[in-house]
Amino acid sequence: MKVAVLAGDGIGPEIVAQALKVLRTLARDGLRIELEEAPFGGAGYDAHGDPLPETTLKLARQADAVLCGAVGGPKYDTLPRAQRPEQGILRIRKELGLFANLRPAVLYPELVGASTLKPEVVSGLDLMIIRELTGDIYFGEPRGRRKNASGAREGFDTMHYSEPEIRRIAEIGFRTAAKRNKKLCSVDKENVLETSRLWREVVSEVGKDYPQVEVSHMYVDNAAMQLVRNPRQFDVIVTGNLFGDILSDEASMLTGSIGMLPSASLDARAKGLYEPIHGSAPDIAGKNLANPLATILSSAMMLRYTFNQDEWAYRIEAAVKNVLARSYRTADIYEAGTRKVGTNEMGDAVVAEL
Ligand code: NAD
Repeated sequence: MKVAVLAGDGIGPEIVAQALKVLRTLARDGLRIELEEAPFGGAGYDAHGDPLPETTLKLARQADAVLCGAVGGPKYDTLPRAQRPEQGILRIRKELGLFANLRPAVLYPELVGASTLKPEVVSGLDLMIIRELTGDIYFGEPRGRRKNASGAREGFDTMHYSEPEIRRIAEIGFRTAAKRNKKLCSVDKENVLETSRLWREVVSEVGKDYPQVEVSHMYVDNAAMQLVRNPRQFDVIVTGNLFGDILSDEASMLTGSIGMLPSASLDARAKGLYEPIHGSAPDIAGKNLANPLATILSSAMMLRYTFNQDEWAYRIEAAVKNVLARSYRTADIYEAGTRKVGTNEMGDAVVAEL
Protein backbone atom coordinates (compact mmCIF):
# COMPACT_ATOMS: atom_id res chain seq x y z
CA MET A 1 0.00 0.00 0.00
CA LYS A 2 1.66 3.16 -1.19
CA VAL A 3 0.73 6.52 0.28
CA ALA A 4 1.74 9.95 -1.01
CA VAL A 5 2.13 12.20 2.01
CA LEU A 6 1.56 15.90 1.31
CA ALA A 7 2.01 17.81 4.56
CA GLY A 8 1.49 21.30 3.07
CA ASP A 9 1.70 24.51 5.07
CA GLY A 10 1.05 26.06 8.47
CA ILE A 11 0.19 23.34 10.98
CA GLY A 12 0.21 20.77 8.12
CA PRO A 13 3.73 19.40 8.79
CA GLU A 14 3.14 19.19 12.57
CA ILE A 15 -0.13 17.30 12.38
CA VAL A 16 0.94 15.03 9.53
CA ALA A 17 4.05 14.10 11.53
CA GLN A 18 1.73 12.71 14.24
CA ALA A 19 -0.28 10.65 11.72
CA LEU A 20 2.99 9.27 10.33
CA LYS A 21 4.06 8.25 13.84
CA VAL A 22 0.80 6.34 14.18
CA LEU A 23 1.11 4.63 10.78
CA ARG A 24 4.75 3.71 11.43
CA THR A 25 3.74 2.19 14.76
CA LEU A 26 1.20 0.01 12.96
CA ALA A 27 3.81 -0.84 10.33
CA ARG A 28 6.00 -2.26 13.09
CA ASP A 29 3.01 -4.42 14.05
CA GLY A 30 2.66 -5.75 10.52
CA LEU A 31 0.69 -3.15 8.52
CA ARG A 32 2.28 -3.10 5.09
CA ILE A 33 2.52 0.51 4.08
CA GLU A 34 4.97 2.67 2.17
CA LEU A 35 5.00 6.41 2.87
CA GLU A 36 6.56 8.99 0.54
CA GLU A 37 6.47 12.72 1.17
CA ALA A 38 6.30 15.53 -1.40
CA PRO A 39 5.87 19.32 -1.35
CA PHE A 40 2.37 20.67 -1.88
CA GLY A 41 0.47 23.96 -1.55
CA GLY A 42 2.62 26.89 -0.46
CA ALA A 43 5.49 24.46 0.14
CA GLY A 44 5.10 23.29 -3.47
CA TYR A 45 5.24 26.89 -4.64
CA ASP A 46 8.36 27.56 -2.57
CA ALA A 47 10.12 24.46 -3.91
CA HIS A 48 8.98 24.47 -7.55
CA GLY A 49 6.92 27.62 -8.20
CA ASP A 50 3.71 25.55 -8.39
CA PRO A 51 1.26 24.53 -5.61
CA LEU A 52 0.94 21.13 -7.30
CA PRO A 53 4.40 20.43 -8.73
CA GLU A 54 4.64 17.89 -11.55
CA THR A 55 6.66 15.48 -9.38
CA THR A 56 4.06 15.69 -6.58
CA LEU A 57 1.21 14.99 -8.98
CA LYS A 58 3.15 12.05 -10.43
CA LEU A 59 3.65 10.59 -6.96
CA ALA A 60 -0.05 11.11 -6.11
CA ARG A 61 -1.03 9.32 -9.33
CA GLN A 62 1.25 6.36 -8.63
CA ALA A 63 0.17 6.06 -5.00
CA ASP A 64 -2.91 4.16 -3.83
CA ALA A 65 -3.90 6.98 -1.49
CA VAL A 66 -2.90 10.52 -0.63
CA LEU A 67 -2.67 11.83 2.93
CA CYS A 68 -2.77 15.63 3.18
CA GLY A 69 -2.25 18.11 5.98
CA ALA A 70 -3.51 21.54 5.00
CA VAL A 71 -2.41 24.31 2.68
CA GLY A 72 -2.35 28.10 2.60
CA GLY A 73 -1.11 31.01 4.63
CA PRO A 74 -0.78 34.79 4.58
CA LYS A 75 2.58 34.56 2.84
CA TYR A 76 0.83 33.24 -0.27
CA ASP A 77 -2.31 35.40 -0.22
CA THR A 78 -0.99 37.92 -2.73
CA LEU A 79 0.10 35.37 -5.36
CA PRO A 80 -1.77 35.20 -8.67
CA ARG A 81 -4.75 32.84 -8.44
CA ALA A 82 -3.15 29.92 -10.32
CA GLN A 83 -0.23 29.81 -7.89
CA ARG A 84 -2.29 30.06 -4.70
CA PRO A 85 -1.96 26.98 -2.45
CA GLU A 86 -5.73 26.34 -2.48
CA GLN A 87 -5.52 25.82 -6.26
CA GLY A 88 -3.29 22.84 -5.50
CA ILE A 89 -6.15 21.17 -3.60
CA LEU A 90 -8.70 21.88 -6.34
CA ARG A 91 -6.34 20.64 -9.05
CA ILE A 92 -5.33 17.43 -7.31
CA ARG A 93 -9.00 16.54 -6.70
CA LYS A 94 -9.71 17.11 -10.38
CA GLU A 95 -6.59 15.32 -11.66
CA LEU A 96 -7.37 12.24 -9.54
CA GLY A 97 -11.08 12.24 -10.45
CA LEU A 98 -12.19 12.40 -6.81
CA PHE A 99 -15.96 12.77 -6.96
CA ALA A 100 -17.14 11.55 -3.56
CA ASN A 101 -16.48 13.45 -0.38
CA LEU A 102 -17.01 11.56 2.89
CA ARG A 103 -17.25 13.55 6.08
CA PRO A 104 -18.03 11.77 9.33
CA ALA A 105 -19.34 13.79 12.26
CA VAL A 106 -18.71 11.89 15.47
CA LEU A 107 -19.24 13.28 18.91
CA TYR A 108 -17.01 11.63 21.49
CA PRO A 109 -18.73 11.36 24.88
CA GLU A 110 -15.85 13.24 26.52
CA LEU A 111 -16.33 16.23 24.20
CA VAL A 112 -20.08 16.57 24.51
CA GLY A 113 -19.60 19.96 26.18
CA ALA A 114 -17.91 21.30 23.02
CA SER A 115 -21.14 21.12 21.01
CA THR A 116 -23.51 24.07 20.98
CA LEU A 117 -26.43 21.64 21.17
CA LYS A 118 -27.76 20.07 24.34
CA PRO A 119 -26.02 16.85 25.39
CA GLU A 120 -29.28 14.87 25.21
CA VAL A 121 -29.62 15.85 21.52
CA VAL A 122 -26.06 15.17 20.36
CA SER A 123 -24.46 12.61 22.64
CA GLY A 124 -23.72 9.45 20.71
CA LEU A 125 -23.84 11.28 17.37
CA ASP A 126 -22.13 9.29 14.62
CA LEU A 127 -23.15 10.24 11.11
CA MET A 128 -21.51 10.35 7.71
CA ILE A 129 -22.24 12.89 5.02
CA ILE A 130 -21.40 11.90 1.47
CA ARG A 131 -21.27 14.84 -0.91
CA GLU A 132 -20.90 14.63 -4.68
CA LEU A 133 -17.89 16.81 -5.52
CA THR A 134 -17.53 17.29 -9.25
CA GLY A 135 -20.99 18.08 -10.64
CA ASP A 136 -24.12 20.11 -9.88
CA ILE A 137 -24.61 23.86 -10.13
CA TYR A 138 -20.94 24.51 -9.30
CA PHE A 139 -19.83 23.14 -12.64
CA GLY A 140 -22.99 23.17 -14.81
CA GLU A 141 -23.00 25.04 -18.13
CA PRO A 142 -24.17 27.51 -19.31
CA ARG A 143 -23.23 29.93 -16.61
CA GLY A 144 -22.32 33.58 -16.69
CA ARG A 145 -23.43 37.14 -16.55
CA ARG A 146 -25.59 39.00 -19.05
CA LYS A 147 -28.07 41.81 -19.43
CA ASN A 148 -31.73 40.85 -19.56
CA ALA A 149 -34.34 42.27 -21.94
CA SER A 150 -34.83 45.35 -19.79
CA GLY A 151 -31.09 45.99 -19.60
CA ALA A 152 -30.61 44.85 -15.97
CA ARG A 153 -27.55 42.76 -15.13
CA GLU A 154 -28.23 39.14 -14.27
CA GLY A 155 -26.16 36.16 -13.24
CA PHE A 156 -27.06 32.56 -14.05
CA ASP A 157 -25.85 29.04 -13.29
CA THR A 158 -27.10 25.65 -14.35
CA MET A 159 -27.95 22.82 -12.01
CA HIS A 160 -27.14 19.61 -13.80
CA TYR A 161 -26.68 15.92 -12.98
CA SER A 162 -26.47 13.00 -15.37
CA GLU A 163 -27.59 9.47 -14.51
CA PRO A 164 -24.04 8.02 -14.32
CA GLU A 165 -22.95 10.82 -11.98
CA ILE A 166 -25.87 10.11 -9.64
CA ARG A 167 -25.46 6.37 -9.91
CA ARG A 168 -21.78 6.33 -8.88
CA ILE A 169 -22.28 8.56 -5.82
CA ALA A 170 -25.39 6.58 -4.83
CA GLU A 171 -23.31 3.37 -5.03
CA ILE A 172 -20.79 4.87 -2.61
CA GLY A 173 -23.66 5.93 -0.34
CA PHE A 174 -25.16 2.43 -0.24
CA ARG A 175 -21.80 0.69 0.14
CA THR A 176 -20.87 3.00 3.03
CA ALA A 177 -24.24 2.50 4.75
CA ALA A 178 -23.88 -1.27 4.31
CA LYS A 179 -20.60 -1.07 6.30
CA ARG A 180 -22.24 1.02 9.05
CA ASN A 181 -25.77 1.05 10.50
CA LYS A 182 -27.45 0.27 7.16
CA LYS A 183 -29.51 3.45 6.86
CA LEU A 184 -29.13 5.81 3.93
CA CYS A 185 -30.93 9.15 3.67
CA SER A 186 -30.77 10.78 0.23
CA VAL A 187 -31.24 14.55 0.37
CA ASP A 188 -32.70 16.52 -2.56
CA LYS A 189 -35.27 19.16 -3.46
CA GLU A 190 -37.52 16.92 -5.49
CA ASN A 191 -40.64 19.04 -4.93
CA VAL A 192 -39.08 21.90 -6.94
CA LEU A 193 -36.12 20.76 -9.03
CA GLU A 194 -36.11 18.54 -12.11
CA THR A 195 -32.49 17.58 -11.34
CA SER A 196 -33.64 16.33 -7.95
CA ARG A 197 -36.44 14.30 -9.51
CA LEU A 198 -33.90 12.38 -11.55
CA TRP A 199 -31.62 12.16 -8.50
CA ARG A 200 -34.33 10.53 -6.40
CA GLU A 201 -35.31 8.13 -9.20
CA VAL A 202 -31.74 6.93 -9.75
CA VAL A 203 -30.96 6.60 -6.01
CA SER A 204 -34.09 4.43 -5.64
CA GLU A 205 -33.01 2.27 -8.59
CA VAL A 206 -29.52 1.74 -7.17
CA GLY A 207 -31.12 0.89 -3.81
CA LYS A 208 -32.65 -2.27 -5.34
CA ASP A 209 -29.14 -3.78 -5.35
CA TYR A 210 -28.78 -3.13 -1.61
CA PRO A 211 -31.81 -4.70 0.07
CA GLN A 212 -29.94 -4.74 3.38
CA VAL A 213 -29.85 -0.92 3.44
CA GLU A 214 -32.95 1.02 4.45
CA VAL A 215 -33.25 4.06 2.16
CA SER A 216 -35.19 7.26 2.81
CA HIS A 217 -35.48 10.57 0.96
CA MET A 218 -35.61 14.01 2.53
CA TYR A 219 -35.92 17.57 1.22
CA VAL A 220 -32.82 19.64 1.88
CA ASP A 221 -34.66 22.29 3.91
CA ASN A 222 -36.02 19.60 6.21
CA ALA A 223 -32.58 17.93 6.42
CA ALA A 224 -31.00 21.23 7.53
CA MET A 225 -33.63 21.41 10.27
CA GLN A 226 -33.43 17.75 11.30
CA LEU A 227 -29.64 18.00 11.67
CA VAL A 228 -30.06 20.39 14.59
CA ARG A 229 -33.36 18.96 15.86
CA ASN A 230 -32.51 15.28 16.01
CA PRO A 231 -29.18 14.53 14.31
CA ARG A 232 -28.95 11.01 15.70
CA GLN A 233 -31.73 9.84 13.37
CA PHE A 234 -29.12 9.79 10.56
CA ASP A 235 -26.56 7.15 9.73
CA VAL A 236 -25.38 8.05 6.20
CA ILE A 237 -26.60 11.04 4.18
CA VAL A 238 -25.90 11.18 0.44
CA THR A 239 -26.46 14.38 -1.48
CA GLY A 240 -25.33 16.60 -4.35
CA ASN A 241 -22.53 19.14 -4.38
CA LEU A 242 -24.47 22.28 -3.42
CA PHE A 243 -26.64 20.76 -0.68
CA GLY A 244 -23.69 18.71 0.60
CA ASP A 245 -21.45 21.76 0.84
CA ILE A 246 -23.86 23.38 3.27
CA LEU A 247 -25.05 20.31 5.19
CA SER A 248 -21.55 18.94 5.77
CA ASP A 249 -20.42 22.19 7.40
CA GLU A 250 -23.57 22.27 9.49
CA ALA A 251 -23.02 18.66 10.59
CA SER A 252 -19.37 19.21 11.46
CA MET A 253 -20.30 22.03 13.82
CA LEU A 254 -22.57 19.67 15.76
CA THR A 255 -19.39 18.22 17.19
CA GLY A 256 -18.02 21.64 18.13
CA SER A 257 -14.38 20.95 17.40
CA ILE A 258 -12.79 21.52 14.01
CA GLY A 259 -9.56 19.79 15.07
CA MET A 260 -11.33 16.43 15.44
CA LEU A 261 -12.87 15.99 11.99
CA PRO A 262 -11.36 13.88 9.20
CA SER A 263 -12.49 13.58 5.59
CA ALA A 264 -12.01 11.45 2.50
CA SER A 265 -12.43 12.20 -1.20
CA LEU A 266 -12.71 9.08 -3.34
CA ASP A 267 -12.59 8.10 -7.01
CA ALA A 268 -14.53 5.28 -8.65
CA ARG A 269 -12.01 2.64 -7.51
CA ALA A 270 -11.85 3.96 -3.93
CA LYS A 271 -8.48 5.59 -4.41
CA GLY A 272 -8.68 8.50 -2.04
CA LEU A 273 -7.31 11.73 -0.72
CA TYR A 274 -7.57 11.98 3.06
CA GLU A 275 -7.33 15.23 4.99
CA PRO A 276 -8.63 17.00 8.07
CA ILE A 277 -11.50 19.37 7.31
CA HIS A 278 -9.73 22.37 8.84
CA GLY A 279 -7.21 24.65 7.17
CA SER A 280 -3.56 25.42 7.87
CA ALA A 281 -4.31 27.51 11.00
CA PRO A 282 -1.44 30.01 10.51
CA ASP A 283 -2.32 31.61 13.85
CA ILE A 284 -1.05 28.58 15.77
CA ALA A 285 1.46 27.10 13.28
CA GLY A 286 4.82 26.00 14.68
CA LYS A 287 3.69 26.38 18.28
CA ASN A 288 2.94 22.74 19.13
CA LEU A 289 -0.70 23.77 19.74
CA ALA A 290 -2.60 22.16 16.86
CA ASN A 291 -4.87 19.20 17.43
CA PRO A 292 -3.52 16.32 15.32
CA LEU A 293 -6.52 14.00 15.88
CA ALA A 294 -8.40 15.01 12.70
CA THR A 295 -5.33 14.02 10.67
CA ILE A 296 -4.77 10.82 12.64
CA LEU A 297 -8.45 9.93 12.10
CA SER A 298 -8.04 10.74 8.39
CA SER A 299 -5.35 8.07 8.24
CA ALA A 300 -7.81 5.62 9.85
CA MET A 301 -10.34 6.48 7.12
CA MET A 302 -7.63 5.78 4.55
CA LEU A 303 -7.06 2.30 5.94
CA ARG A 304 -10.81 1.63 5.93
CA TYR A 305 -11.97 3.09 2.63
CA THR A 306 -9.02 2.70 0.27
CA PHE A 307 -7.21 -0.28 1.77
CA ASN A 308 -10.20 -2.15 3.18
CA GLN A 309 -8.30 -2.69 6.42
CA ASP A 310 -11.12 -2.22 8.91
CA GLU A 311 -9.20 -3.84 11.76
CA TRP A 312 -6.29 -1.42 11.57
CA ALA A 313 -8.65 1.54 11.15
CA TYR A 314 -10.56 0.43 14.21
CA ARG A 315 -7.36 0.23 16.23
CA ILE A 316 -6.53 3.86 15.47
CA GLU A 317 -10.07 5.02 16.26
CA ALA A 318 -10.13 3.07 19.52
CA ALA A 319 -6.75 4.56 20.50
CA VAL A 320 -8.10 8.08 19.89
CA LYS A 321 -11.19 7.32 21.98
CA ASN A 322 -9.04 5.98 24.81
CA VAL A 323 -6.72 8.96 24.75
CA LEU A 324 -9.73 11.26 25.13
CA ALA A 325 -11.10 9.06 27.89
CA ARG A 326 -7.76 9.44 29.66
CA SER A 327 -8.32 13.22 29.58
CA TYR A 328 -5.63 14.21 27.08
CA ARG A 329 -6.67 17.48 25.39
CA THR A 330 -5.05 19.91 23.01
CA ALA A 331 -5.86 23.58 23.63
CA ASP A 332 -8.83 23.68 21.20
CA ILE A 333 -10.76 21.02 23.17
CA TYR A 334 -9.39 21.77 26.62
CA GLU A 335 -11.76 21.97 29.58
CA ALA A 336 -10.92 22.53 33.23
CA GLY A 337 -10.03 19.28 34.94
CA THR A 338 -8.49 17.68 31.84
CA ARG A 339 -4.83 17.33 30.88
CA LYS A 340 -3.59 19.94 28.39
CA VAL A 341 -1.01 18.60 25.94
CA GLY A 342 0.68 19.83 22.78
CA THR A 343 0.54 18.43 19.24
CA ASN A 344 3.51 16.12 19.77
CA GLU A 345 2.35 14.82 23.12
CA MET A 346 -1.10 14.06 21.70
CA GLY A 347 0.54 12.06 18.89
CA ASP A 348 2.69 10.23 21.45
CA ALA A 349 -0.37 9.47 23.59
CA VAL A 350 -2.13 7.84 20.62
CA VAL A 351 1.01 5.82 19.84
CA ALA A 352 1.26 4.72 23.48
CA GLU A 353 -2.40 3.63 23.38
CA LEU A 354 -1.76 1.58 20.22
P1 NAD B 1 -8.54 27.21 9.61
O1 NAD B 1 -9.34 25.98 9.61
O2 NAD B 1 -7.11 27.08 9.22
O3 NAD B 1 -8.57 27.90 11.06
C1 NAD B 1 -9.78 28.32 11.67
C2 NAD B 1 -9.58 28.38 13.19
O4 NAD B 1 -9.55 27.04 13.69
C3 NAD B 1 -8.27 29.03 13.61
O5 NAD B 1 -8.46 29.75 14.80
C4 NAD B 1 -7.34 27.86 13.88
O6 NAD B 1 -6.34 28.13 14.83
C5 NAD B 1 -8.32 26.79 14.37
N1 NAD B 1 -7.86 25.44 14.00
C6 NAD B 1 -7.88 24.88 12.77
N2 NAD B 1 -7.37 23.65 12.79
C7 NAD B 1 -7.02 23.41 14.08
C8 NAD B 1 -6.43 22.30 14.74
N3 NAD B 1 -6.08 21.17 14.10
N4 NAD B 1 -6.21 22.39 16.07
C9 NAD B 1 -6.55 23.50 16.74
N5 NAD B 1 -7.11 24.58 16.18
C10 NAD B 1 -7.34 24.54 14.85
O7 NAD B 1 -9.27 28.25 8.66
P2 NAD B 1 -8.83 29.72 8.19
O8 NAD B 1 -8.15 30.44 9.29
O9 NAD B 1 -10.02 30.28 7.54
O10 NAD B 1 -7.76 29.48 7.02
C11 NAD B 1 -6.35 29.48 7.21
C12 NAD B 1 -5.67 29.05 5.92
O11 NAD B 1 -6.05 27.70 5.60
C13 NAD B 1 -6.09 29.88 4.71
O12 NAD B 1 -4.95 30.10 3.91
C14 NAD B 1 -7.09 29.00 3.99
O13 NAD B 1 -7.16 29.25 2.63
C15 NAD B 1 -6.52 27.63 4.27
N6 NAD B 1 -7.50 26.51 4.19
C16 NAD B 1 -7.00 25.35 3.68
C17 NAD B 1 -7.82 24.23 3.62
C18 NAD B 1 -7.25 22.95 3.10
O14 NAD B 1 -6.04 22.81 3.07
N7 NAD B 1 -8.05 21.99 2.66
C19 NAD B 1 -9.13 24.29 4.11
C20 NAD B 1 -9.58 25.49 4.67
C21 NAD B 1 -8.74 26.61 4.71
